[in-house]
Amino acid sequence: MKRKQNDSTVRKLRYYTLRNIESHDRWNSIPADIRAAIRVVGHVLPFRVNDYVLEQLIDWDAIPQDPIFQLVFPQPGMLSESDFRRVADALQRHGAADELDRVVHEVRMGLNPNPAGQMELNVPIVEGNPIPGVQHKYRETVLFFPAAGQTCHSYCTFCFRWPQFVGMPDYKFAARETEDLIAYLDEQPQVTDVLLTGGDPMVMSTDVLRRYLQPLLDDGSEMPNTIRIGSKSLAYWPARFVTDDDADDLLRFFEQIVASGRNLAFMAHFTHDTELSTPVVQEAIRRIRSTGAMIRTQSPIVRHINDSPDVWRRLWRESIRLGMMPYYMFVERDTGARDYFSVPLVRAWQVYREAAAAVSGLARTVRGPSMSTLAGKIEILGTSFVGDEQVLVLRFLQGRNPDWTYKPFFARYDEKATWINELKPAGTAERFFFQDELQALIDADRQ
Ligand SMILES: *Cc1c(COP(=O)(O)O)cnc(C)c1O
Ligand code: SF4
Repeated sequence: MKRKQNDSTVRKLRYYTLRNIESHDRWNSIPADIRAAIRVVGHVLPFRVNDYVLEQLIDWDAIPQDPIFQLVFPQPGMLSESDFRRVADALQRHGAADELDRVVHEVRMGLNPNPAGQMELNVPIVEGNPIPGVQHKYRETVLFFPAAGQTCHSYCTFCFRWPQFVGMPDYKFAARETEDLIAYLDEQPQVTDVLLTGGDPMVMSTDVLRRYLQPLLDDGSEMPNTIRIGSKSLAYWPARFVTDDDADDLLRFFEQIVASGRNLAFMAHFTHDTELSTPVVQEAIRRIRSTGAMIRTQSPIVRHINDSPDVWRRLWRESIRLGMMPYYMFVERDTGARDYFSVPLVRAWQVYREAAAAVSGLARTVRGPSMSTLAGKIEILGTSFVGDEQVLVLRFLQGRNPDWTYKPFFARYDEKATWINELKPAGTAERFFFQDELQALIDADRQ
């Protein structure tokens, strides 16, 4: 049976995890070997989905290749063969529970749970104390992680925030309230943007969201002049903005933010054009836009899900039609089930270029493919030649030092490389222009 798009929309948010997915009608339509693999991989990496995704986004005739199935269900190839075996064996043995826990923990630690030093770097200090749940890496923008927004309406199989969803407590940023953030912002007049992120801040009720944001509006200062909300709720639970009990209240709050003279930027994570296809998501987009908020779209490029120019062309065209502005194409980060999902940098750029060539200028506001690295956001501008040497042309979109912004630099051409650490500077240089300074900045930050 296909997606049931014409059925009335799923209105009740019901979650499925490994614990109860067997109770869902669709479970038995998944081939037995894949069901077994979901169990194994789902013990290591997070799994959560809801009825809307199951009923209105997945095309059950197309599984297991269906991109939304790949997006939310753990896949056999996400663990190496040896890791898979170890976890499968531990599960089968039904031994002591702590044996399974130990194996799972070891496998997780092998998956690089702390990419780009994000745990120990970038945490601001006020009066000698680190501020929990706040990260400040790029001069103008502060990230804020409200404690109540650290889950999502479904989990993406490729997510780099997986450690916090599987309950690795050291990997959870969380702010209980906004007071410390405001104290910090008062000292940092160059910050224009506060970006609310998670998890997904839209899992919070409107009341709770208000509790976090109202103090920013009431502060008496004009800063921040932009409030951004990073969210995949439009893709995973658009009813949040349409039929949820406090949907109207949420829209009134968005209007209030706009009326305060601020820019409200809704950073919508859309991975595939299927996510834009249902009546309820289109209504949700219309309603958010009617508040005066601006919606921008972004996603990583991920193998098995959206690594084709056709998908991106449709995604950008449809975003534009619905009044949203394409913003970023990211390169999948160096953590988790990376081998299964990663796309070589050269290939990512080809997909980007071919898709961009097939849309009007209004959709070419999208930047990328961009890697979020320890040094900053690095964009792949393309391939070229310097003399006889074939190169990749790169530049910073955001740098730990703002002075690095937009300066092109060259790496040796490498068709297989999937991340900056696999690239070598072109020509005779041994290090990229920013590397010594980066080391100095990191050493200073660690002190
Ligand atoms: C991407 C990102 C931002 C926002 O960057 P923009 O280019 O302004 O969208 C801010 N902080 C961090 C840590 C980021 O990774
Ligand atoms: S919605 Fe965002 S934070 Fe949540 S699992 Fe997906 S990528 Fe990760």
